[in-house]
Amino acid sequence: MIIDLRSDTVTKPTKGMMDAMMNAKVGDDVFGEDPTVIELEQKSAALFGKEAGLFCPSGTMTNQIAIKAHTQPGDELICDVNSHIYNYEGGGISFNSGVQAKLMTGDRGRISAQQIEQSINGDFDWLTRTSLVSLENTVNRAGGSFYTVDQVKPIQKLCNEKKLALHLDGARIFNALVETKESTQDTGKLFDSISICLSKGLGTPAGSVLLGSKEFIKKGRKIRKVFGGGMRQAGFLAAAGIYALDNNVTRLKDDHKRAKEIEKILKQLSYVDSVLPVDTNILIFDINPKLSSLDFEKKLAENNIRMAAFGKQTVRFVTHLDFTDDMLGQLEKVLKSIR
Ligand SMILES: *Cc1c(COP(=O)(O)O)cnc(C)c1O
Repeated sequence: MIIDLRSDTVTKPTKGMMDAMMNAKVGDDVFGEDPTVIELEQKSAALFGKEAGLFCPSGTMTNQIAIKAHTQPGDELICDVNSHIYNYEGGGISFNSGVQAKLMTGDRGRISAQQIEQSINGDFDWLTRTSLVSLENTVNRAGGSFYTVDQVKPIQKLCNEKKLALHLDGARIFNALVETKESTQDTGKLFDSISICLSKGLGTPAGSVLLGSKEFIKKGRKIRKVFGGGMRQAGFLAAAGIYALDNNVTRLKDDHKRAKEIEKILKQLSYVDSVLPVDTNILIFDINPKLSSLDFEKKLAENNIRMAAFGKQTVRFVTHLDFTDDMLGQLEKVLKSIR
């Protein structure tokens, strides 16, 4: 038994998902003729009360298309210093859009309207035009913390007043919503564009959907082609997405429960110095300098457990669809045996 806690992207499609994929009706989506892609796009858009959706190979692409569509070269966007768009998309903000990022240090990745307001540039020849604010929910690098709808409302109001676009990197938005019990509809009302990932906790092999107005998605479709993301019979992948939205959302709660269990175990271990609060399916913790994260990684690897070293002392575990109660038991045994 291999226990893989590196990411919630490591899941393999289940039999039910594979059946849905194999039976998908497909067509050429660059011609707009794949019925399953169209169904997934319409279904996700309706779920969040948006007019249209755009199926893309990755969440990096949906985010980067959104940034490109909302900005002009030379603009500035505002985001938290932990943002995926800034840290893990290969410098795409500047590479793809010629845009620079103004970085905020939020409360575990959550930035406030006040912080944003202080960072919007005035209208002077020598200042960069601020055109976009991007939030992440949940925040990956901050340990899966989440925003509530009420926390985002003042940000939305400010963006409206200042004529800034507001984007959500919702790679794990469903993890947030199963905790807050808030609706996708109320979430949709807050943002001009939303990226949702199907290949994280929802367990598909690939795919993300970008949501927004008809006009925005029309622009996004053109950018997707330029970025090389126009796929042909993509309905096989879209079918997995439809299956995931129907079957794998509410069960995310189980991943959160198991993450909480792991938190309890970690707090009993003498070699664990601190654990960030566990809000969803991500655990970030520091181990004692006597045992570096690389040593810890090696010891776990010897026991068939895989993890991500996030820093010299920092470790990340992510729970997911393929992490079972049996694995939790085995993990507990191994963690308690390490010295
Ligand atoms: C995984 C992730 C993405 C998208 O990643 P891809 O691997 O390109 O699909 C975007 N934002 C966050 C916060 C993520 O965790």
